Amino acid sequence: MTASFSSISTSLITSVVFALALIASVLLKFWLATRQIRHVAQHRGEVPRAFAEKVSRAAHQKAADYTLAKTRFGLIELAWGAAVTLGWTLLGGLSVLNLTLNQWLGQGLMQQVGLLVAFVLINGLIDLPFTLYQTFVIEQRFGFNRTSAKLWLQDFAKSTGLGLILGVPLATLVLWMMGATGTLWWLWTWCVWMGFNVLMLLVYPSWIAPLFNKFQPLENQEIKDRVAKLMARCGFTSNGFFVMDGSRRSAHANAYFTGFGASKRVVFYDTLLAQLSPPEVDAVLAHELGHFKRRHIVKRLVSMFAMSLLGFFALGWLSQQLWFFTGLGVLPNLSGQNDALALLLFMLVLPLVGPFVGPFFTLMSRRHEFEADAYAVAQTSGNDLATALLKLYKDNASTLTPDPLYVKFYYSHPPANERLGRILSAGT
Ligand SMILES: [Zn+2]
Repeated sequence: MTASFSSISTSLITSVVFALALIASVLLKFWLATRQIRHVAQHRGEVPRAFAEKVSRAAHQKAADYTLAKTRFGLIELAWGAAVTLGWTLLGGLSVLNLTLNQWLGQGLMQQVGLLVAFVLINGLIDLPFTLYQTFVIEQRFGFNRTSAKLWLQDFAKSTGLGLILGVPLATLVLWMMGATGTLWWLWTWCVWMGFNVLMLLVYPSWIAPLFNKFQPLENQEIKDRVAKLMARCGFTSNGFFVMDGSRRSAHANAYFTGFGASKRVVFYDTLLAQLSPPEVDAVLAHELGHFKRRHIVKRLVSMFAMSLLGFFALGWLSQQLWFFTGLGVLPNLSGQNDALALLLFMLVLPLVGPFVGPFFTLMSRRHEFEADAYAVAQTSGNDLATALLKLYKDNASTLTPDPLYVKFYYSHPPANERLGRILSAGT
């Protein structure tokens, strides 16, 4: 009697703590977003002095309006997301889904995998209106969207199919290991999870990304020669430079680096390449090579390894606690396994920690950007990098006047003012 009484009160405490944490994280995100909205709106009228000669008033105001539209929409998503989390947990959604699948499939591995797949599909459907609104209303209004309904549907079918092909075997393996590998299952499962991530990093550039985009080598001979020289100077094989048809889906411009070992490559969107002069291409490429030189992929991977080990350890412990289930609105299966339930509850609770650890990761990422910029300035020209970045900021309608605190929480790249300031003071 005492035991059950104490487990009821532990479960109640868990519910209260969870609800409070959810409220705290929503309030924090809401406060940050309203700061950003206020800050951008206040500075909408005037181009900041440092950019007065380089950025037109129209471009500045477009960036402000675009940022405001996205951030305001983010507030609705935030409220909806919190409601969905509550629906799955304290309001009993996950418990109902679990019991329903128990009736259909009985208790066992199949039911567990079914629960994960059903949860992911339902969540995907719940998010769908938001994704559609973002692409076909917000992006459309600002002239960025180039995705047709047909292309969108193709993408959706492909990514869902790919998710099932890769996700179902992985989920089955993980759930089997959780039940079959003893008390240290979380350690073995973490090894498998890490192996999967490394494998994805290796095969993503050459197998998965080409399912969605075309990647072609450069055609422009002048740029080709410069790229080959720069890559040789920085110690890279020159077949690692690709142009991607980003313009099929969006007018936004970008460049990125990916993979490691033989699979490493730098990818330029055709939208970016079309706008840069050859020396600017050099500068942006040197920035991406800087990420490799300073071992940013490896550093990211190591921090992800460490964080996920911590996560799996926590999951291993939580999945043994009855209150973790009952406190979050779920009746555990009395005779079967509860691994899929534990995994899903963990995934629902994890985002609450996000806003509190996020700033450490964005800080690391912004530092990496500064390092890559410094490498580019040393290898090419700071002026070229600065003008290339301004084109990039303009194409993405990135605001020049974000709220400084919002930047600390969310920006993976330093805002234009900080970034160009450093490049131009260091550069030639
Ligand atoms: Zn970068």
